[in-house]
Amino acid sequence: MRVSRQMLVTLRDVPAEAEIASHQLLLRAGYIRRVGSGIYAYLPLMWKVIQRITSIVREEMGRAGALETLLPQLHPSELWQRSGRWQGYTAGEGIMFHLEDRQGRELGLGPTHEEVITSLAGELLRSYRQLPVNLYQIQTKFRDEIRPRFGLMRGREFIMKDAYSFHASEESLQGTYAAMDEAYRRIFSRCGLDAVPVDADSGAIGGAASQEFMVTADAGEDLILISDDGLYAANQEKAISRPHEAIPLDTGESATLKTPGQGSIESLCETQGWHPSQVVKVLLLLARMEDESEKPLLVALRGDQDLNQVKLVNALSRLLDQGVLDCRPITVDETARQGLGPLPLGAIGPDLDDAVLKGARSWAPSFIRLADTTATELDRFHCGGNSNELHRCHCDWESLGGRPEGQDLRNARAGETCVHNPKARLRDKRGIEVGHIFQLGRKYSEAMDSRFTNENGRDEAFWMGCYGIGISRLAQAAVEQHHDEAGICWPTAIAPFEAIVVVANIQDEAQLALGEATYSTLLEAGIDVLLDDRKERAGVKFKDADLIGIPWRIVIGRDAAEGNVELIQRSNREMRKLPHAEATSSLLRALRP
Ligand code: ATP
Ligand code: MG
Repeated sequence: MRVSRQMLVTLRDVPAEAEIASHQLLLRAGYIRRVGSGIYAYLPLMWKVIQRITSIVREEMGRAGALETLLPQLHPSELWQRSGRWQGYTAGEGIMFHLEDRQGRELGLGPTHEEVITSLAGELLRSYRQLPVNLYQIQTKFRDEIRPRFGLMRGREFIMKDAYSFHASEESLQGTYAAMDEAYRRIFSRCGLDAVPVDADSGAIGGAASQEFMVTADAGEDLILISDDGLYAANQEKAISRPHEAIPLDTGESATLKTPGQGSIESLCETQGWHPSQVVKVLLLLARMEDESEKPLLVALRGDQDLNQVKLVNALSRLLDQGVLDCRPITVDETARQGLGPLPLGAIGPDLDDAVLKGARSWAPSFIRLADTTATELDRFHCGGNSNELHRCHCDWESLGGRPEGQDLRNARAGETCVHNPKARLRDKRGIEVGHIFQLGRKYSEAMDSRFTNENGRDEAFWMGCYGIGISRLAQAAVEQHHDEAGICWPTAIAPFEAIVVVANIQDEAQLALGEATYSTLLEAGIDVLLDDRKERAGVKFKDADLIGIPWRIVIGRDAAEGNVELIQRSNREMRKLPHAEATSSLLRALRP
């Protein structure tokens, strides 16, 4: 391919819309173009990268025994009604784009395909003899993300590889899950990515295995915690650790104190001379349920700990045996709208009386009370006095009506020691989630009544797994991991071209002739090569070559008359001046060892 025919449009300036390096570089180098919020065109160079990635993915899926298929993107709402997810995915902050057809029937644009595939499996896979089956597709997904950003990292339309497996037993599911884990490691490593597998949240289903693959990069939206003995890594949403010990509290008299202007743990501790680990803080939250009801919630934590939203939502949906959409702090306005008096925000104790909710318009009339183990393990502590600007010091659980049962609701943090090895410590890193594998169990097959006949002739719901890779996100994550100040440094396996031949001055006949000859030699050897034959200054061409990031460059310049060229590797800028035949053979050895 000739650059003059390549529709190469590079930008000198950093586009204002782009905050992170990979997004800036993909825009500047002419790989992508924004069409709307979270909506991007993949320009020809980008499409080649995507195809390189998908061909690696296809090879590895095939090796792992998965079958390629293509499912519809328009999903009848009935399917999502059957799984119970229609409401959660379309109402409120739901992420499914949805519409009505000319007959008034509701449809959704597929954000994920569990519903479609589970219903098909129920119709097509009747007997255990047909199992296991693993189906995958590579396709555009639609999600009306609340905050689309960072270009392809969080789009509203993006390319995903998603696979779904169906099994007659849990052991069979575990076998395929392990094979997919292996396939994912091979895919990311072949794509030139350093991706760390981490334990991931699997929702309220306790015990179900789920693992994410994280490309470590400062721009990552996820926080991951990795043990320094290398044996444990988890998304913070899921991570566990041993909290630091609380500072012991002397046996002072219990008393009620006036604490004006001390509504935060920080100001309270500073004024009273307390340590945050000696305080039980109580958060007042509102849980929004899948059936759209709202329930007020009190969560007790040790004052030096942070609440983990994901753990909280999971604990709550287990407790209530009902889907929880989210939990967020209650505002003064909201209590007023419920017709309630002001609540003692900033001074709430674990024993706040349900009576404060009496007469609430739509909220449940009593608090759901949850406590983190760091709080319940304290024998003596300070806490809120349930009245504005009042706190109680040196309390114990007995005097507050009994010690509640504790559970893990806190964020693990860097610096804490590990549960599996008290000598190992956690370090934190930011990560970009490029893949996710998940043992779903029978959640969807049971909800959708999708069944097969087992060996004993009885009907049983399938065991299921699902496995995603964000193809377009992966492409950008590769740039985030491989770039320098001058541009992209694509890993060779996914680069749009393997090599570029730059003719410094096409008006020089010797240069042009040697350039064309080198280009033909490489083409004939099966190298995907680009020839920069533009009538531009050499400096412009070198800058563009750096920017678009082709792994190998052969420069045909002044020495062309003697038959000499420069061979340059983009990633480390290593440059060798060589006779042209040696340059091409050396390049061939590097690309086709
Ligand atoms: P996230 O937590 O980043 O929102 P998710 O956990 O909802 O992602 P999955 O449902 O697990 O995503 O989707 C499988 C893969 O698709 C993810 O691992 C990620 O790589 C990719 N992906 C998800 N959402 C987007 C998006 N909005 N834009 C680009 N890629 C995405
Ligand atoms: Mg995920």
